Amino acid sequence: MTEHPDILQRVRRTSTVLADGRELIYFDDSEPYLSGAKSRDVADERPLDDLPTAGTMRLDALTGDWISIADHRQNRTFLPPAGECPLCPTGGGTMPSEIPAHEYDVVVFENRFPSFASGATTPGTSADEPSADEPTANPLLAHAPALGRCEVVCFTSDHGASFSSLSPTRARTVVDVWADRTRELSALDAVEHVFCFENRGEEIGVTLHHPHGQIYAYPFIPARTASLLRAATAHHARTGRLLGADLLAAELDAGSRVVIRGAHWTAYVPYAASWPVEVHLVPNRDVPDLVALDSAERDELAEVYLDLLGRLDRYYEGPDGSPIALPYIAGWHQAPVHQGRDVSRLHLQVMSVLRAPGRLKYLAGSESGVGAWVNDVAPERVAARLRQVGRAADAL
Ligand SMILES: [Zn+2]
Repeated sequence: MTEHPDILQRVRRTSTVLADGRELIYFDDSEPYLSGAKSRDVADERPLDDLPTAGTMRLDALTGDWISIADHRQNRTFLPPAGECPLCPTGGGTMPSEIPAHEYDVVVFENRFPSFASGATTPGTSADEPSADEPTANPLLAHAPALGRCEVVCFTSDHGASFSSLSPTRARTVVDVWADRTRELSALDAVEHVFCFENRGEEIGVTLHHPHGQIYAYPFIPARTASLLRAATAHHARTGRLLGADLLAAELDAGSRVVIRGAHWTAYVPYAASWPVEVHLVPNRDVPDLVALDSAERDELAEVYLDLLGRLDRYYEGPDGSPIALPYIAGWHQAPVHQGRDVSRLHLQVMSVLRAPGRLKYLAGSESGVGAWVNDVAPERVAARLRQVGRAADAL
């Protein structure tokens, strides 16, 4: 068992190993595990294959982007019946799940079908794939082992819940978990960037309904992160200031797109939003990543994020006036591990492809072909609606 002093007071962290060698970590915020009255000692007794090894990534010479080639992921679990959910505690369904315990608060484990993995590559994994250790003859066809790590974060053992229905205490635990994982994954040899995210809703390709998020630790700086870093670096060189801080000041000054203003956090619809529904949640203080958040900021983040997700779930109404749970992607933009930490500023981006009830925005020719976005909805209108559907309690 390993524990970190920062989260020791409110969360007990217990690291264990699954049958195939993957790490699983319990983050307990309730009794009897929080005090240590009971310990996490249930073994995973499934007959699993060996630990997944790193696959390959190939360099797209046209763009300079790395593409992870993970054809083993085609076999991953796809929308299983509830009794076979791999993220529910073991014992409730018809087969053992990924989590050997009968109950849990928050759990993190290494993905069984990772796009990036630690450890040696397996030479000749498939007949047409050169071993990642062998250089190819042509430098335009470069490849490298897809080193790194992919983790799954189960927000609750309740299969029917969602992040927005978590208690503030549980949401606060997830904030600690994101920070803990960012710290640990940033320390791994190959890792250049850590991305904590959640996909919710079948509309955006969720393959498991159980409320969960993911964390990818990449061995390179991803394309959009690189783009954010270029803009932040140029702004800092020109003004000596942080782009994220100046943008927050500009949004507060304009006011029309601000949705929530807290003591430590601000949520606004960005001036040039790309998605039909998009909100940025930013700390009021300059911090590079989740690890740097202090206790008061983490407390308020849990509250403000739940408030924001609640508003998003009231954003659209069905024909009978009932709210429509918004499919969304939520991702934390953090400073890369080794570059640009002095110019980067943490922010959460929440976005949805739902442009009207039952109507999805497809990333078609302009967006997918050349990366030129067309947004049919004025950001000010989105912000006004999100203010209107404010906290359920405020409306009473
Ligand atoms: Zn489940």
